[in-house]
Amino acid sequence: MRFIDLRSDTVTHPTPAMREAMYRAEVGDDVFGEDPTVRRLEEMAAERMGKEAALFVASGTMGNLVALLTHCGRGDEVILGDRSHTFLFEQGGMAALGGITPRPIPNQPDGTLRLEDIRAAIRAENVHFPRTRLICLENTHNMCDGAPLTPEYTAAVARLAREHGLKVHLDGARIFNAATALGCDVRDLVRDVDSVMFCLSKGLCAPVGSVLCGSADFIYEARRARKVVGGGMRQAGVIAAAGIVALEQMTTRLAEDHERARRLAEGLAQIPGVQVGPVYTNIFYFWLTDPLRKTPEEVVQQLRERGVLVLGREDGRFRVVTHYWITDEDVKTALRVFQEVLTS
Ligand SMILES: *Cc1c(COP(=O)(O)O)cnc(C)c1O
Repeated sequence: MRFIDLRSDTVTHPTPAMREAMYRAEVGDDVFGEDPTVRRLEEMAAERMGKEAALFVASGTMGNLVALLTHCGRGDEVILGDRSHTFLFEQGGMAALGGITPRPIPNQPDGTLRLEDIRAAIRAENVHFPRTRLICLENTHNMCDGAPLTPEYTAAVARLAREHGLKVHLDGARIFNAATALGCDVRDLVRDVDSVMFCLSKGLCAPVGSVLCGSADFIYEARRARKVVGGGMRQAGVIAAAGIVALEQMTTRLAEDHERARRLAEGLAQIPGVQVGPVYTNIFYFWLTDPLRKTPEEVVQQLRERGVLVLGREDGRFRVVTHYWITDEDVKTALRVFQEVLTS
């Protein structure tokens, strides 16, 4: 049985063009700086983001961790959203491995942090306090309905950061989805931040990898941090080759995924007893108005038995994510299955 897998865009397999590029990739030892394919990917990524330099990393989690280890020292504090991926889903790596304190403040429903909340969280110089060093933003915002942050908002946070001598890191795992939804160049979304991480392995379909971008000095230090967390890879051109195809071929088609997400959400909203959250990009959430009717586990299981996979969250919501391998036909089939399972 072929599953219609709507759990995440991380389930995307590499495209035939990626497999071909991986097969043909010219490689070398990247820890010696000798893998021409990794270097090309890093140059392309830096250029696309409008930053001086870039670093290929194994995952988004590694990219965020390396960024935090580079911006902050032991005892420093980081302001970030209480629903951010970095706070919720990265094992507190900043504290566990870097001695960095997370200072979570409320994410608004649109994924932003209120400027006054940020301002109130910035520490004064005082012998009792850790030192605030960094603000982290997330674009698009995974847990906040896949909402994109605008260039204006990002610039406002960056201005506030600069006033206080702080840096800004952007978790841009799905930054190309944000640029697509807002109809802007990705550079507009990252111009004002000091570093940005984006994933090749999600909606862009590459099998492995993320890229961290920033100034040349920042990336020089980040390369050291990557090495100490075990992220120095050798003939990594084999996977970087797929990342190059991702940047060349996959960043301009994401509107299709957004459109299919919108159609799925509209169909789901027609089903009695189903509530659907907003749809901004390729991620949205739905939930049952009467949660006692079926447990989340039952819903997930009954959908699975009929070939449709969604992700059940602890809060009773179900996550739906569209991606390259979800077709118009799949949208129709999935809606039929949703109807069957959610009305019975
Ligand atoms: C997926 C994701 C990450 C982490 O990426 P991995 O490659 O899974 O480690 C970080 N931030 C956000 C917003 C994500 O969605």
